[in-house]
Amino acid sequence: MINYLYQEQNWQSQLSDLITDPAELLNTLQLSNTLLQGAHLATASFKLRVPRAFVAKMQIGNPHDPLLLQVLPHHLELEEHPEFVTDPLAEEQANQQPGVLHKYKSRFLLTLTGACAVHCRYCFRRHFPYQENLPKQQDWPNIKQYIESQPDINEVILSGGDPLTLSNRKLAEWIDHLSSIPQLKFLRIHSRVPIVIPNRVDEVLISILKNSRLRIIVVVHSNHAAELDDFTCSKLSQLVDQKIIVLNQAVLLKGVNDSAKTLIDLSYRLFDAGVMPYYLHVLDKVKGAQHFDLDSSHIEHIYEDVLANLPGYLVPKLVREIAGENNKTPLFGTTNY
Ligand SMILES: *Cc1c(COP(=O)(O)O)cnc(C)c1O
Ligand code: SF4
Repeated sequence: MINYLYQEQNWQSQLSDLITDPAELLNTLQLSNTLLQGAHLATASFKLRVPRAFVAKMQIGNPHDPLLLQVLPHHLELEEHPEFVTDPLAEEQANQQPGVLHKYKSRFLLTLTGACAVHCRYCFRRHFPYQENLPKQQDWPNIKQYIESQPDINEVILSGGDPLTLSNRKLAEWIDHLSSIPQLKFLRIHSRVPIVIPNRVDEVLISILKNSRLRIIVVVHSNHAAELDDFTCSKLSQLVDQKIIVLNQAVLLKGVNDSAKTLIDLSYRLFDAGVMPYYLHVLDKVKGAQHFDLDSSHIEHIYEDVLANLPGYLVPKLVREIAGENNKTPLFGTTNY
């Protein structure tokens, strides 16, 4: 319907015109206000934030829309559950210096912004104290020194927050800095922005990535094929056309994508755009996300079905992140050798 408007509008104005009021979101989707009170309560700890281009992919009048469920604050978030905590991955301890989160050998996360274009209700970083933790340009010498002190590092992962909420100019500055360190070979960008504001993939961004000395990997985050309309896929394909590796990570979420069929459709849709499925994460046990949780036998059933129906190259690796481990932990079939 109104999708074409977002195809015309530049990403900066879309990013400064997000829906942040639950009433407006419900109104836009012609949904009743019965969900409103719970939504207001849940926004107190984590605000609603969603781009209109993402809302345009939701089904009008459907309170169970899988895209809506990912972003609409819900009163169930307020329920206390002892297993669900504010920092399930103990990231505060892995924080070496502003912006640097180094847990695995060859690669580390560089967090340049705490901002995201969308607030995903299940996000494990919803309680993370970003503000104290963001590097500025003048912190670069320290970051450089840190990288050079760790000869195993060959890859930097721009993460967040969401690094593609930064301007192209800022992004280019950081990428320039990183390119100047010979030991770095790969630059990865983890971002949900190409999914929620596809126009973020603009000509300047493409040329920055295309012209970098570093091998670029873009890891997008889409949980459902309905997020991948033709326009979004065409933008992802533009990256692929420049020989940028584009991968997808998804999170397995109750009510959103907890069926083999949904996951199979997602893999095929990604592949249409030239994007390869990478990870399927089980939910991190973060406070406020307990209503997205699935029990392990259900997860196993779904994943077995996915394995049986897709070619191996379209099966995302089912993983959990466990604090203190050397890598994401594979969850299926690892005991059978
Ligand atoms: C997930 C993560 C990575 C990336 O892991 P890959 O398995 O290489 O995708 C790197 N560093 C940290 C701190 C992470 O949480
Ligand atoms: S875009 Fe990523 S980091 Fe931001 S809220 Fe969503 S899942 Fe979390």
